Amino acid sequence: MKPYRLLAPGPVPVPPAVLKAMSEKVLHHRTPAFEKILVESWAGLKKVFATAQPVQILAGTGSSAMEAAVVNLLSPGDRALVVVSGKFGERWAEICERYGVLTTRLNVPWGQAVDLEDFATALKAGFNAVFTQACETSTATLHPIQKMAALVKNSGALFAVDAITAVGCVDLPMDQWGLDCVIGGSQKAFMIPTGLSFIALSERAWAAQAKSKCPKFYLDLSLEKKANSKNETHFSTPTPLITGLAMVLRQMEAKGYGLVQKRCETLAAATRFAGAQLGLSLYSASPSPSVTALQTASDSQVLRERLEKEENITLMGGQDQLKGKILRVGHMGDIQDDDMLALFDALAKMLSRRYDRAATEALLKSAPVLFT
Ligand SMILES: *Cc1c(COP(=O)(O)O)cnc(C)c1O
Repeated sequence: MKPYRLLAPGPVPVPPAVLKAMSEKVLHHRTPAFEKILVESWAGLKKVFATAQPVQILAGTGSSAMEAAVVNLLSPGDRALVVVSGKFGERWAEICERYGVLTTRLNVPWGQAVDLEDFATALKAGFNAVFTQACETSTATLHPIQKMAALVKNSGALFAVDAITAVGCVDLPMDQWGLDCVIGGSQKAFMIPTGLSFIALSERAWAAQAKSKCPKFYLDLSLEKKANSKNETHFSTPTPLITGLAMVLRQMEAKGYGLVQKRCETLAAATRFAGAQLGLSLYSASPSPSVTALQTASDSQVLRERLEKEENITLMGGQDQLKGKILRVGHMGDIQDDDMLALFDALAKMLSRRYDRAATEALLKSAPVLFT
């Protein structure tokens, strides 16, 4: 059996040292030993989010933090503008609608970044909050968040950013850019298993939180905030995951917060470089460093299944209108140079093409690794 290579845009491979630390013991969540890990994790997350506000750790996947954003910022009957540029934008809109929020979709052609003029025009209708992805993972497309934030600020609305495939691996300083809500997920740039999400609110967002009337119990962020001020989580929490998180954050601090971003950028560059030679063109007009979508001439679903069965490599295809048309290669997590080369070698074999392996390898080698 060939070694397993996980190259999806989440979940991602976990560094072996982190896997080991997570499996050593299960701490109770109300003990001094865990409190230390929790406090350390919060401090590390604040640095990654670049915010003076608390960053909460939720025991739920990224979608739970998305739902938390909606129910804590808004009341039924409020107005929301949602950027829909793929599957995850659609999810924002569905959550808003479930809670009786009057939802306007700004539909962006898949694979394209938000057009700032269209965005500014849409904002004129007046909204309580605007929801977007920083990177729309389903199309591997990055949006111009800093410029969008300035426009939203002028409109008076709150700006909530699903940065699950951005925070930690793309420049996104929350306070400096004036973002009101930023969301991250454990199984993406934070390179631990699925199960945790992270959410931070600005002062304005906390003021809206106090007034929001959407029903909430598990996702009431004010209760979590109160518990956190006593160095506790409100409910039980998966302590092994947070043990792993603390370890990753410690390493990010030790090696510099830009390292993961640099590595993602390099893996993305290598993927574009090798991909072009393999006849796989770039799908997105605004490609993200966290995930690359490559267009395939033949059915991408067939390629994906063969990679899985014959090579033990997992990556993702396209959904809906992109089904069978693209391959999505993730760049976050503990991906080694060998993993990338194994993928390109396999694609070269399947597509009967060649690529400059030595140049690709040299490019990959130029990137630092978080855990060596
Ligand atoms: C992965 C991801 C999510 C979270 O999905 P979960 O499966 O709930 O963790 C949300 N938004 C984006 C952009 C993502 O990439």
